[in-house]
Order: sequence, then structure tokens, then C-alpha cells
Amino acid sequence: MERTLNDAMDYARTFLHTGKVATYIPELAKGDSEQLGACLITTDGEVYRSGDWQQEFTIQSISKTITLIMALQVAGYEKVFSKVGVEPTGDAFNSLVRLETKTAHPLNPMINAGAIATASCCMDVKDPFGEFLELTRRLCRRDTIHLNEAVFQSEKKAGMRNRSMAYLMEDDNILEYDAEDVVDLYFRMCSLSVNAEDLANYALVLAHNGVDPRSGEHLLDDWIVRIVKTLMVTCGMYDASGEFAMKVGIPAKSGVGGGIMGTVERKMGLAVFNPALDPKGNSVGAYRVMEYLSHYLGLHYFSGSNSMI
Ligand code: GLN
Repeated sequence: MERTLNDAMDYARTFLHTGKVATYIPELAKGDSEQLGACLITTDGEVYRSGDWQQEFTIQSISKTITLIMALQVAGYEKVFSKVGVEPTGDAFNSLVRLETKTAHPLNPMINAGAIATASCCMDVKDPFGEFLELTRRLCRRDTIHLNEAVFQSEKKAGMRNRSMAYLMEDDNILEYDAEDVVDLYFRMCSLSVNAEDLANYALVLAHNGVDPRSGEHLLDDWIVRIVKTLMVTCGMYDASGEFAMKVGIPAKSGVGGGIMGTVERKMGLAVFNPALDPKGNSVGAYRVMEYLSHYLGLHYFSGSNSMI
């Protein structure tokens, strides 16, 4: 396993020059596109780490899975899915075109508009961000996870598209709170600082249907885990979700900070970090590590054979 992971990293490194760090959030432009880190944790508790696995980066859109979890816990199934759909868009993650042309409701919780809607479902509690942070810390097994204040401020300043979506949804009565307050929470959720091991811990809990296999601790209800993993399959890689499903076949969620978190049913949680992004906003290095591991470890959810597409 150790060797396969390191081989996957070497394979991925040959592609890093094809990607670019995100610049639309100025603070993310400081990322180093050569950094590559990975962590893989099996359900029997083996941990494999490689490269820059300790490097912290902002969770960005990977937070959308945790926002959905919290929304389902706080507001329940009926309310959440009265505000957001479950269909892939085929559009960029920050597109707002469907809010006008299809239905007023965002198509799914894994794109920005959908996550802003689910963030608003988290706001019925007294301290929404505090509870979100606690939930993230529990799932990632690290109670020092914190907000990256510089990224948060940078997002807030540059977040005009997200604000536009929020105002449209406030106008359509999808948000039950003030658009500015909802995007403030959304930006905070995206700005948590994590490393590859944190996200691999979380992915492991998803792989094991809500129970940490090492402690036996029941962290999430299995109906919620099922919803989250399904949406990771269909929408987790933005408008590359179909391609990733075909080539890699691991339920995954990516973020523009360079992380991709993947969960292999009953087998392992894994997370890879590399800030070089492809044109759709997915990390080039993380995508390639997962592609390699899927191929050589036979991780595709339909892996009858191990052939690389
Ligand atoms: N915070 C980012 C944004 O709103 C998240 C996007 C992403 O990771 N794809 O644009």
C-alpha cells in the first residue's frame, strides 16, 4: 500500500504543470502548485501518509458535504429538499444561470447556490458557525481545526457571485435569513483550515456509514451518510462528476483550495491535496492520485476488472 501510494504521487507529479492555483479568491493565489500531499486510512485502522500531508489548506467546497449533514440534522429531510434539488447541473460550480432558467431552487447542495441554501437551513440554531466547527472537528478527529481568517476575509471581499445567488434566493423565498448573514456563514464554512489527514478521517467515517471504525463511535446517522455519498457520486466533482465517476469511481468531493476527499465503501477514507486546479476547478494532482489508486487498488465502485480507461 505504502509503495502504491508513493507511486501514485510520482505519477500525479508529472501532471502538476498543467494546473493553476485559484486566483478569484486572492488569498488562494498564494498557494504553491507543486505541493502534493495525501493520506489514506483503511477501515482496519492502517494510516498511510505521503508528501505534504501536514500542509494546511482551506476546505472550500468540501465543506458543502458537512453543511448538508448539519442542515439535515438541524432542519430535517423535508425542509432541506424543499429548498434544494438533487440533480447534477453540468454547469460550473459558481454558475447562477439555473436559478433563473430552470427552477428558482438550486439544483443540488454540492454547488455554491445549493450550499448557500443548505447553509441557511443550518441557521435555526443559536451559534451556527460554532456548531459547524464542532461537527467538523468531530468528523475530522482534530479539535484544533480553526478558521483561516485571511481566506475568510478574502472570500468575503471577492464573493460577489455568491452574494448575487444569495440575493436571488432571498427574493425567491428560498433563504429564511438575510442573504448577507447566510453568505457570511457560507464563507466561514469554506474557510476552515484542514490537512489531508483531517479529511481522510472524515472520509473514513463516511466509508463506514457514520461509525468511526477505530473507536466504534456513532458519529452520523446512516440515512444522512447515504444521501451525502450519493450526491458526492453525482455532483461532487462539479461539472466533471460524470467523467470522474467513469474514470475513478470513488464518491468524492473537491474544493478550490486543492483538496479532494474520497470515500471507498467499507474499505477506506482518503484525501489528497494539491493546489493546481484544472479548468473546472478540480485539483490536478489530487485527481491523478485518486485515478492511480483506483486503478491499482481496484477501488472503482464497479471494479470487476482493474483496467484504466
Ligand atoms: N468558497 C468557494 C466559492 O464560494 C468554494 C468553491 C469551491 O471550492 N469550488 O467560490
